[in-house]
Amino acid sequence: MPTEFEPIIGLEIHAQLLTRTKIFCGCSTKFGTPPNTHGCPVCLGLPGALPVLNRGAVELGIRAAIALDCHIELESVFARKNYFYPDLPKGYQISQYELPLATGGRLSLPESGTDVGITRIHLEEDAGKSLHEGFPDSDLKSYVDFNRSGVPLIEVVTEPDMRSPTDARVFFTTLREILVSLIVNDGNMEEGSLRCDANVSVRPVGQSALGVKTEVKNLNSFRFLERAIEYEINRQIDVLKNGGQIIQETRLWDASANRTSVMRSKEEAHDYRYFPEPDLPLLRITEDWVDEVRRSLPELPSATRVRLIANYGLTTEQVEQLTRVRPSLATYFEEVVEAGAPPKAAINWSLGELTRKLNEEQTDQVKVIRQRVSPIALAKLIRLVDRGTISGTIAKEVFEKMYITGESAEAIVEQDGLAQIDSVEMLAETVNEVLKQHHDAVAQYRSGKSGAIGFLVGQVMKATRGKANPKLVNELLRKAIGR
Ligand SMILES: [Zn+2]
Repeated sequence: MPTEFEPIIGLEIHAQLLTRTKIFCGCSTKFGTPPNTHGCPVCLGLPGALPVLNRGAVELGIRAAIALDCHIELESVFARKNYFYPDLPKGYQISQYELPLATGGRLSLPESGTDVGITRIHLEEDAGKSLHEGFPDSDLKSYVDFNRSGVPLIEVVTEPDMRSPTDARVFFTTLREILVSLIVNDGNMEEGSLRCDANVSVRPVGQSALGVKTEVKNLNSFRFLERAIEYEINRQIDVLKNGGQIIQETRLWDASANRTSVMRSKEEAHDYRYFPEPDLPLLRITEDWVDEVRRSLPELPSATRVRLIANYGLTTEQVEQLTRVRPSLATYFEEVVEAGAPPKAAINWSLGELTRKLNEEQTDQVKVIRQRVSPIALAKLIRLVDRGTISGTIAKEVFEKMYITGESAEAIVEQDGLAQIDSVEMLAETVNEVLKQHHDAVAQYRSGKSGAIGFLVGQVMKATRGKANPKLVNELLRKAIGR
């Protein structure tokens, strides 16, 4: 009787494609507009309305497929997936079934290096959204918003290659990063533009046949994904250890209760009565088009990381911080270096002041900074510090002003008289004044407490509002005290 079980996990990810209009009509895909303001005969499924495929959606699907090393099918077929649900006005969803857009790809997980196979990527339309809350009569009625119906999606289906909840989370974060960097998807899980379902099964270690799987839905955050899979693995192991059987079913993650519960018994593909969509022709893609898309692809995040380490001598940790949350920060950093700043100073600014500013503004959009302080302007500020014109502390103050006024660093330093004071004549008086006022510290220093010099330097810096050259102040003080 085996006691050890091995989890087997596959994911199905729905990603909304970043087109301006829906996949089969000209209605807007804009999120957050009042319910039922983006609809037309096509996406509302009125009789006689005919779908016309959005070329932009196909192109974004091709981008994703190339990035995930898939084979792009030069001929694929749209199919009707028939089911009844109030948010599906046509009574079927246009998807791809037997012949999808792309097949047979893979994605390597960072660190572990595990290769996760991509079974397929297909194009489909989204359904509408049922609204069960927020109305005075919500206890009696549900409402439907069709704004989302007909919004273009890709579904990415993986092979059951993941062996832990962590694998699944890392896969999802890596995929998200790729889709966002290719401008295929906005990565916004709260708004539902990126959604993940997990297929989970367990089997006794050593057994090659797969166990019965359940599908877990509603995993709209990385944390929920990990926790829900963890829960589901333990639940299945418990059932099997108690002599029970796993039932193939769809389960819903309930974040507040921290558990999954049965949503419906799992439907089989034949329940959907798939058949080719008669209103759309075969989707034909030329090799030339695929090549053109391939050439237009930006560098993938994993390649960017390798290059940043090699070119600028950054540490893995610095590169992680620079690229993980806000990939556009890496671009900004490179432009600062290109404009003449040393990489070491540029990375300190990027992970220091710039990151602090983005947190303060509560945004990941580096363009918020770029609009006011260009990489060239920041490089000039860094050069002022390098040359000793201003201190590092003053530089932060100057950056703040640059951010507010959009002026150049030189102009601000000039106007506000912030240039570092490093002439002996200009500092002599202040140094003498500080020595007169702090006899005790001078005495302490003379009696061997060398730390007292730091206090005196601090007093001079304070008196000059941080503008004095601290190294010079140190020298002048020692000379004056006579040690
Ligand atoms: Zn429409």
